[in-house]
Amino acid sequence: MSEEPSHIQDPYVQLLKRQIKRAETLTAEHLTCRRGALGHHWQAVQPDFKTNVRGALAVAYQCQGCLCIKRGVVSKRYGEWLANPSIEYPEGYLLAKVGNEPTVSAQSVRAAFVALVQSDIEGLPEMIALEHHGGVPTG
Ligand SMILES: [Zn+2]
Repeated sequence: MSEEPSHIQDPYVQLLKRQIKRAETLTAEHLTCRRGALGHHWQAVQPDFKTNVRGALAVAYQCQGCLCIKRGVVSKRYGEWLANPSIEYPEGYLLAKVGNEPTVSAQSVRAAFVALVQSDIEGLPEMIALEHHGGVPTG
């Protein structure tokens, strides 16, 4: 049984393998921030721009992991984005396009991320036990 089963060789799995290889080239911070891993952890920061739209607020958030910055203009009253927010990524975060195929997928990021994390499981923080007060755990 040295050959992989046929389902492993299908085009989807081949694409996934290429995506996992690309995900593995990311730094730990950049990998951790991606969809499929933990995602960005945003903090509100002072915006470096202003808006003159009435009833609107310029907002900026920065990820404490990869340091990317999200900027946008939000309606104070209803909270909708008045223009799509833009994200400025640090160098190395975005992967070079390869043809038309998605560079990585959430699944490929998850595969690379769990491999990274599991290789250092001793370095993970300990879980803090939740106190239960007679409630039934859900979800
Ligand atoms: Zn991030």
